[in-house]
Amino acid sequence: MSNYQLYSLLSPTSDFDQNLVCDVLVIGGGPAGTWAAWSAASNGAKVALVDKGYCGTSGCAAASGNGVWYIPPDSQAREAAMLSREALGGFLSNRDWMQQVLNQTYTNVNLLAEWGYPFPVDEEGKPYCRSLQGPEYMAIMRKQIKRAGVKILDHSPALQLLVDAEGAVAGATGVNRQSGEKWVVRAGAVIIATGGCAFLSKALGCNVLTGDGYLMAAEAGAEMSGMEFSNAYGISPAFSFVTKTLFYNWATFTYEDGTPIPGAASQKGRSVIAQTLLTQPVYAILDQATEDMRSHMRKAQPNFFLPLDRAGINPFTQRFTVTLRLEGTVRGTGGIRIVDFTCATSVQGLYAAGDAATRQLICGGFTGGGSHNAAWAISSGYYSGKSAAEYAQKLGEWGRQRSVQAVGEAGLTNNSQHQINTEEVIKATQAEVFPYDRNNEAIVAGEVDVGIYGDTPALVAKAKGIPTRLISQEQVGMNAWLIGKKNGPRSLAELKGQKVATSKGSYLHRYLIGLLQKSGLSDRVTVVHLLPSEAQAALERGDVAAIAAATGTGPLLKSKGYPVIDEATKHPDLPGTSVTVATVAFLAKHPDFPQKWNQIKQASVKNIKVNPEAYYKFHTEVSGYPIDVIKASFPLEQFPEEPFPTQGLQLLEGTKKFLVSQKLAKSDFKLNDWIVPQQ
Ligand SMILES: Cc1cc2nc3c(=O)[nH]c(=O)nc-3n(C[C@H](O)[C@H](O)[C@H](O)COP(=O)(O)OP(=O)(O)OC[C@H]3O[C@@H](n4cnc5c(N)ncnc54)[C@H](O)[C@@H]3O)c2cc1C
Repeated sequence: MSNYQLYSLLSPTSDFDQNLVCDVLVIGGGPAGTWAAWSAASNGAKVALVDKGYCGTSGCAAASGNGVWYIPPDSQAREAAMLSREALGGFLSNRDWMQQVLNQTYTNVNLLAEWGYPFPVDEEGKPYCRSLQGPEYMAIMRKQIKRAGVKILDHSPALQLLVDAEGAVAGATGVNRQSGEKWVVRAGAVIIATGGCAFLSKALGCNVLTGDGYLMAAEAGAEMSGMEFSNAYGISPAFSFVTKTLFYNWATFTYEDGTPIPGAASQKGRSVIAQTLLTQPVYAILDQATEDMRSHMRKAQPNFFLPLDRAGINPFTQRFTVTLRLEGTVRGTGGIRIVDFTCATSVQGLYAAGDAATRQLICGGFTGGGSHNAAWAISSGYYSGKSAAEYAQKLGEWGRQRSVQAVGEAGLTNNSQHQINTEEVIKATQAEVFPYDRNNEAIVAGEVDVGIYGDTPALVAKAKGIPTRLISQEQVGMNAWLIGKKNGPRSLAELKGQKVATSKGSYLHRYLIGLLQKSGLSDRVTVVHLLPSEAQAALERGDVAAIAAATGTGPLLKSKGYPVIDEATKHPDLPGTSVTVATVAFLAKHPDFPQKWNQIKQASVKNIKVNPEAYYKFHTEVSGYPIDVIKASFPLEQFPEEPFPTQGLQLLEGTKKFLVSQKLAKSDFKLNDWIVPQQ
């Protein structure tokens, strides 16, 4: 397309009712967008900000309020702050980024105090700056950006980005929802601050958060990052949409009959709530909040109590039904990839901030709820505004006048040839993103081609008729540990009448059921199903008497003084194996995969046996477990060089027979028919 054609697409004679030209266009007017606009304007840029709703009341911070990661510059306090979620996030965060965000958030929150934000003060007159009430916060931000000269277009969603002949982003177009008028803003740089995506789940403040910014950025060629960590759910009363979750830390979650649900908790127990909700209602009562706390809680988060008050429920003394509502990337982590400290994206001229940008840099794979999200919105907003202003100023007048074209193709415009039934699209999208159990059993759903996992789930899937083939065994003789709670049972006999947790369908499950059967305890111990992290949390809280723990966790708990009641390696038939399986469809396309896989595996195993210390050091670094725990979990003799060692096949056959006899596997089959023949 020639420059003339590009320009003619959006010439002043084109059909836009409002034409604006500026240095920096900010899309979205929540905390991230307003900090970005303020920062760009303070750096001398001419700035326009467009919001889908009314900047100051739209978005989730305005409706909900935010606890903030506000840590004074004390090195010990900062170190503790960085450490607090590092392991939970799988060590995927970046300390340089965390330090930057802690610094910037501290500076900017102090600025809010100077601007008149009414922080409460303690008896010594010191302000408490770790919490921001949404309406007051956002009203101040609106006032400040207006003061800085930012032009605000309310009720004006952006629908598509504009790019120049080189593909650099150069503005956006959209519509005014109230007047129906179309607008175009040409800009030297654009910042996407459209918040996260909760896709109309009705979670508090999320009605405007449909992921428009992700779509617009992707259409301009931007990359995403951390989207595998985008499935956060908030707890709310089943009859309301208030997803303020902090106070559920003091809740007991129960079944309908009032018995506590083992492992269910707001933190490290939310997927137990999800699992239970799949089959029955879940009740909560805030009975763990002390009398002193109760009145303080009402003052701190009045909106938490509104729906309960309306329903005439006293949450401290009466149980009420709860549910989980999707908050997606609003509290989950993924978003537009940020390439450096300027908050630039992978596309020239395009910046991202707040929930629209990946938060992986400070949260890793874990939610930033309760503190980090607010800090990220403030800091990434500030950095993106400053950098976008500098970039646009370098482009000068040319940046605002260059030839541009719109790149929106899907969803937000009506350029498409196809008629779209909006309701159907919404329904189909929600069916994909709402259900709690979507992320499980990816290989079963055909979303994964090759999996390396425990023999039990692989056998159960095969027995169910899932078309897979077995390529090799990776670890043979894997131990499992039966760990008791502190000051709890020390022997199998003492488990009578108690609850023991395991992950359903895992090799731990097979070990535990086998052990209880051997010990004549099958009918005398209640087995509850929890994910590993939740089982550990339940053990620490004393909710369960013992857990079956896997490699890593077992030796770690042992080193922390938890009693080891039993180990799988004490019984010849109970240790597990880990296996590699591939789908039949994948192997049809890649018939030489098994051979290549086994060649690489053989070379790797030889290598780690020659240099075990280097292997253990590497494993320690990537897993975050201490080296002694890794050594106890992964003895070198458990890694066979051949694809199927005799002991491995014996264990696999024994496990299969056991699973079939227990009706945990649907039907029997011959291992030989499953194994890919070796060439
Ligand atoms: C109930 C609840 C409680 C929370 N509590 C905390 C907490 O205690 N601590 C914490 O750290 N975090 C918390 N969060 C998360 C926190 O509120 C967000 O991380 C933060 O608001 C992100 O700011 P943002 O500016 O990126 O997004 P938002 O505040 O959501 O603002 C996005 C803005 O973009 C606008 N927009 C969307 N699409 C378009 C478009 N196409 N064109 C123009 N504008 C558009 C929206 O109208 C909105 O104004 C909570 C979230 C919820 C839902």
